[in-house]
Amino acid sequence: MISSRLKEIKLLMEYAVPADERRQALALLEDFSGDRIALNLFHAFYSFLPEGLDDAINGLQVIALKQGIFLLCATTGIDKYLYVVNQEQAEFLGNTANGIWDSEVLAFFGYPSREDSIRSLEDISRFPAYSPATADSNLCPVCSAANGEFHTLGCPVEVCPWCGGQLTNCACRFTITGKNRLAGEDDLESFHEQLSGKGRIPFDAASQRPAYLTDGEE
Ligand SMILES: [Zn+2]
Ligand SMILES: [Zn+2]
Repeated sequence: MISSRLKEIKLLMEYAVPADERRQALALLEDFSGDRIALNLFHAFYSFLPEGLDDAINGLQVIALKQGIFLLCATTGIDKYLYVVNQEQAEFLGNTANGIWDSEVLAFFGYPSREDSIRSLEDISRFPAYSPATADSNLCPVCSAANGEFHTLGCPVEVCPWCGGQLTNCACRFTITGKNRLAGEDDLESFHEQLSGKGRIPFDAASQRPAYLTDGEE
C-alpha cells in the first residue's frame, strides 16, 4: 500500500539525507505522497544512493513517457540521475551526463544510440517538471491535455505523426524542415505549420496514460 511505502521511504531518508537538506526533501516527498510513480523512484533512490554518499532529491522531471512507462530525471544535491519507472518499480539507469547504456531502454524510448541520449539530456531544464498524478482523471500527466486534445507544444508525451516516436526527441523536425537545427521562432513556426498540416496526434488516455492502480490493490 502507498502509506506503508511512504513510511519506508521516510525511514530510509533518515539515514540518507544530509541534515540541512532534510526539511526540503521531506516537503518534496509530501508533494508526491499519493503518487505511486514518484514513490517508486524515491524508494529506489533512497534504498540505493547512486554515489553511496548522503544525498537528497530536490526535483523530478519527465524526459519521456511511453505506454505508461516514465523516463524520469531526479535532480539531487550531487548529480542528475535517470530512472525508468512504472507502477511497480523504478530502475536506476545512471547519471544524465553518461546517457543511457541499456539498449532496450534506448530502443523503447526511440534514441538511436547512447550518444544521442547524451545530447538530448544535455540541457535538463528544457524538460517539464513531473507533477503528481490524479488517479481519477484522464489528463496527460505532463501537460494536462484532456483525452483527445492536443498536447501543449513541447510536451514529451506527444507522438510524432511522421515516425510514431517521441516528437520532442525524434529527428523528424530536421528531415521535415531540411535544417540541421531549428534556430529561432521562424524555424519553429514553419515546423509547426508542417506539423499541423500533417495532423498532430492528440493525447490518448487509454494507450498513453499509466494504468493507475488504486491504493490497496497491490
Ligand atoms: Zn501532454
Ligand atoms: Zn518523428
